[in-house]
Amino acid sequence: MEKKQFQAESKRLLEMMINSIYSQKEIFLRELISNASDAIDKIYYKALTDDSLTFDKDSYYIKVIADKENRTLKILDTGIGMTQDELENNLGVIAKSGSLAFKKENEAKDGHDIIGQFGVGFYSAFMVADVVTVITKALGNDQAYKWESTGTDGYTIEPYDKDSIGTEIILKIKENTEEENYDEYLDEYRLKAIIKKYSDFIRYPIKMDVTNH
Ligand code: ADP
Ligand code: MG
Repeated sequence: MEKKQFQAESKRLLEMMINSIYSQKEIFLRELISNASDAIDKIYYKALTDDSLTFDKDSYYIKVIADKENRTLKILDTGIGMTQDELENNLGVIAKSGSLAFKKENEAKDGHDIIGQFGVGFYSAFMVADVVTVITKALGNDQAYKWESTGTDGYTIEPYDKDSIGTEIILKIKENTEEENYDEYLDEYRLKAIIKKYSDFIRYPIKMDVTNH
């Protein structure tokens, strides 16, 4: 499978995220939940104008699933999903608003105290994960895809099996180091606290599932 390279700009942001000494790494969860919520919004607004679509409130939610044994944290949504092109264009390059705003500010001042004020976006996942996997199926598409990256060395995209429309972001959480504790991002109470702190205003249900063994 061909490994594709990130755009130069994206690579820079990615490097900053991977080597981040920023203390509030926890904001990655805010970013991924806000993306999940945006993706559900997109179905919601589509349903307002498209009679063939109904927005059944109970079918739209975000779920955070921690698996301590496998060190994975999954953020799942039943939103609009991404096509193969969208995966390429949205995750392979620095998309827009959030990331760019962050980058600009960061050039002006020392980044570490302002990073938390901006949407730093999807790449913030690399602050806490060695591997990021995105499994997604777009509304109106039969084929799902898997995007995967271990960071600056690029990413792969391949067809994948997924039944339902929506997106799963799977983070392989880093091992603890002497300076940093990453286990906390697999801990139910810590995750609940982070969600309460940053994502209390999200208007879709955020469910949680933690396996402790
Ligand atoms: P922003 O949210 O500011 O656009 P991000 O870096 O957070 O920037 O996300 C980049 C893009 O990737 C989003 O604009 C969206 O198109 C796509 N994306 C990210 N997460 C999801 C998701 N869970 N479902 C659908 N699309 C997503
Ligand atoms: Mg975002």
